[in-house]
Amino acid sequence: MAPQAFTEHTLSRSLAEAGLPVEYNTEAIAYTEADGQAQVRVRRADGREETLAAQWAVAAEGAQSVIRHSVGLDFEKKKYLGYRIRIADVVADWTLATPIGQGYFFIQEKAYMGGQRLPGEPNRFYFYILTEDDEPDNDAHELDLAKMQQLVRTISGDDQAVLSDLRWGSTSRYSHGVAAAFRKGRALLLGDTAKIVIPLFGQGMNYAIHDAWNLAWKLTYVVRGQAGEPLLDTYSDERRNLARQLDERISSTFYLITEPKPLQAPALRAAVPVALSTDALQKVALRSMTELSLTYAGLGLSAEKTSVGQLQAGDRMPAVWTKQLPECSSINLLDLFDGTTWTLLLVHRAGADAAQCHAEIAAASALQARYDAVLRAVVLSGGPRRPAASRLQTLVDAEERLARAQDLPPISALLVRPDGHLALVAERVAAGLAEYLAHWLTVPAPAG
Ligand SMILES: Cc1cc2nc3c(=O)[nH]c(=O)nc-3n(C[C@H](O)[C@H](O)[C@H](O)COP(=O)(O)OP(=O)(O)OC[C@H]3O[C@@H](n4cnc5c(N)ncnc54)[C@H](O)[C@@H]3O)c2cc1C
Repeated sequence: MAPQAFTEHTLSRSLAEAGLPVEYNTEAIAYTEADGQAQVRVRRADGREETLAAQWAVAAEGAQSVIRHSVGLDFEKKKYLGYRIRIADVVADWTLATPIGQGYFFIQEKAYMGGQRLPGEPNRFYFYILTEDDEPDNDAHELDLAKMQQLVRTISGDDQAVLSDLRWGSTSRYSHGVAAAFRKGRALLLGDTAKIVIPLFGQGMNYAIHDAWNLAWKLTYVVRGQAGEPLLDTYSDERRNLARQLDERISSTFYLITEPKPLQAPALRAAVPVALSTDALQKVALRSMTELSLTYAGLGLSAEKTSVGQLQAGDRMPAVWTKQLPECSSINLLDLFDGTTWTLLLVHRAGADAAQCHAEIAAASALQARYDAVLRAVVLSGGPRRPAASRLQTLVDAEERLARAQDLPPISALLVRPDGHLALVAERVAAGLAEYLAHWLTVPAPAG
């Protein structure tokens, strides 16, 4: 568990390294579109107002977004649940000691509480407490430490617990919902502007980061004229569908925990501690919370479902260590997907027909030449045999870890998007790949 201050520092530093320092105290106050441009009226810290114009506006202003309201994309059936969450980073003097990274989770009817030990100093905990409460928010979302302490005592049963040294904290009421679309005109919604989920499994920020990862390369392609605007609609389709699934999943779990049916409460109390302590469940939970197992199968760029072996279009390409020829340096397949370039990965297993491999390499080389700036063809050769000679970047997976794990045929062609998700998978380069690329990408005009 990372303290909030660490997360903020890390994100600010990354932005500064990219040459984009955060302009604090600058507020978007109005949004319009005119002359084919997105126009955002901003108010600076000194009260000065100005209008910023750009081809596109990415609305990442949290749940109360000015841009989302302006374009009329309010949350579908936004729900207020009548619950209040209090979160705090505090020192706790209580009887429930625990190692760093571990904590306690209390489930009660209409209330739950988590207390996670934070690194850095003894007895510093991150508490999150949810209780039924319909009082209006105070404007500053200020946390009352005495009230928090009283709740910790009541819920944990430790009536001597003392909380002190509040580093940060906040309180707010719950709501959740998903915007009707993530794109309208020149406005693109991202993170909590696009959806808010109940903060039950710590997924909101991860989800917002995945939104940005999905959108950033698509927007770059459209701005550079390397793809048409329909590519941006795939952002809305892919991320919104997953947001709705997430919202559904989390809210049904939320009600199971807070408002269980008569037999569910004792079953939960017995099962949750056992389940949470098993390695297998922790791994599943980690993959789910980091969203590394998410798939866009059947959506957006993978609306047409294609598969080879266990791999299906829309899935995230698995991580596999390989050797890169000629120098035999180690490279993970994930390192190929840097958020800028498409990859056409030709997987040639040890037993593949040599003539067929050559034909595939020739077809992939032609596509690479055609989409020079945006597509890179790479051969992944299996087994100890020398790979077929080619000018393409060549990697060796001597133990065929990818092909075995995914049950791949002797030859397969995997088209991977810049964000590492499979766009289209086939047993031959010829099978629809050229048409797919022509549909989504703009062929660069010949030089000169
Ligand atoms: C109690 C609680 C616990 C949570 N725990 C977790 C967790 O453990 N893990 C996790 O992944 N997620 C968690 N979340 C969810 C997470 O905080 C959000 O999903 C995430 O912060 C969304 O990021 P965002 O950048 O989209 O929006 P925000 O973090 O809300 O950022 C929006 C920013 O825009 C600014 N802004 C707002 N309006 C304007 C305007 N008009 N002009 C300019 N700027 C503006 C705001 O000041 C803010 O800085 C939790 C949420 C809550 C409420």
